[in-house]
Amino acid sequence: MSNSKEMKEIGWNLDNSYAHLPELFFNSLALNPVHSPELIIFNNELAAELGLDAKELINDNGVAILAGNKSPEGAFPIAQAYAGHQFGNFTMLGDGRALLFGEQITPYGDRVDIQLKGSGKTPFSRGGDGRAALGPMLREYIISEAMHGLGIPTTRSLAVVATGEAVIRETELPGAILTRVAESHLRVGTFQYAANWGSKEELQALADYAVKRHYPEMEMTPNPYLSLLQGVIKRQAVLVAQWQLVGFIHGVMNTDNMTISGETIDYGPCAFMDKYDPKTVFSSIDIQGRYAYGNQPGIAGWNLARFAETLIPLLDEDDDKALQLAQDAVSQFPELYRANWLSGMRAKLGIFNEEKEDKALVEELLSIMEKYRADFTNTFLALTFDSHKEFELFGTPEFIQWQEKYKERLSRQEESEDASKEMMQNSNPAVIPRNHRVEEALEAAVNDRDYSVMEKLLDVLENPYEHAEEQAEYAKLPAEADRPYQTFCGT
Ligand code: AMP
Ligand code: MG
Repeated sequence: MSNSKEMKEIGWNLDNSYAHLPELFFNSLALNPVHSPELIIFNNELAAELGLDAKELINDNGVAILAGNKSPEGAFPIAQAYAGHQFGNFTMLGDGRALLFGEQITPYGDRVDIQLKGSGKTPFSRGGDGRAALGPMLREYIISEAMHGLGIPTTRSLAVVATGEAVIRETELPGAILTRVAESHLRVGTFQYAANWGSKEELQALADYAVKRHYPEMEMTPNPYLSLLQGVIKRQAVLVAQWQLVGFIHGVMNTDNMTISGETIDYGPCAFMDKYDPKTVFSSIDIQGRYAYGNQPGIAGWNLARFAETLIPLLDEDDDKALQLAQDAVSQFPELYRANWLSGMRAKLGIFNEEKEDKALVEELLSIMEKYRADFTNTFLALTFDSHKEFELFGTPEFIQWQEKYKERLSRQEESEDASKEMMQNSNPAVIPRNHRVEEALEAAVNDRDYSVMEKLLDVLENPYEHAEEQAEYAKLPAEADRPYQTFCGT
């Protein structure tokens, strides 16, 4: 059987529309084969959605593709060029350790990027080795799939393959490659790159491409570039509100890590907040707390202002008018965010109708939670199931007072209590990927080559709104840690 026949049987249906953009935007790549690829974890459900035959993909031939040792049929391997503000400083970046095979056209007609992360050096690697370690790639797999389970737009993870090679970090670590699936890898940073290093025609080609790929309904609007800006602002307002509602802290909201599609991307030092505290930061490198939980909406707004700036040459021939359009669009973000957040909070509290005082009611609860260092996820879970006894918070005078107001508020809606509780169950997850559980899974996988802990964790995270019995154990908090939890940039 020829290679190409075998590959066809896997179900590859790749197109390369990004590679038809001007050459400024990418470098074609040769493959960097690895020594002895070994499949560590594979996402059967996602493979099926992509139209890929899992059985064919997990044999040696398929794994060779997931390791970057072979190209699938129809691939045109490239590294994408982009720039970005990293912790506020603008710099040239690009895929320094990733390779885009192309876009899989799924049986549903969707177009998604198939990218290998950790696939070796590229012209954008700067001093880096182009590789990734097993722990961080499994971490991205777990958290991205957990986000998907939570119903939050995100890149997906198809597989992690160990390379059989070591990567040198502070110590020697096993190397690995993640297959990442995304609506696209267009970033705010891609536009910053075009605006800084490209011509107006090249910028326009990128913008036209983004509209066509992610906002096709806007092609016919009077000003598609303004529509694109407004569209991205809207999707990011929805996305960041969803993060806040589950206590997700991205950790590196650099402009290169903000997508045009509105998906969460780049799971480095991200983690979920346990005790409610807007100042929560997990990333070891975020000394100033720039990307703390409570700062995420503001940072998103800042990033979107950087995006708007890149589009100014396209928004209007008159510079002043273009600037005004950009500013007006960006100024919508805080209110859009707030509206999404508040409607999500109403759902978490089982409130259907809108009243002016709802925001104050939510904020009062949050401030009591902050004062008593209450666990974010489990507080809403306890409210959902009236399992109040377990928490110190629920015995406090502030909470008892708040609860009176809350009960009155619930009585001012027509929907039944059952309907209210049902909405709460669908809005308050039974489980999140708790830091100690993620660490436990990674330790077993990396140190002992025991993948069962991770598989069990992925299982309970798959449907967090199910409130199944086996999830309860995973909702529990760790024994009080000696040191605060810290995450390190995914390297
Ligand atoms: P990230 O922190 O994953 O968003 O990466 C930021 C930038 O650093 C991107 O341009 C990456 O491609 C690059 N990068 C991260 N790790 C490596 C590495 N090991 N080798 C080369 N480039 C890297
Ligand atoms: Mg990145």
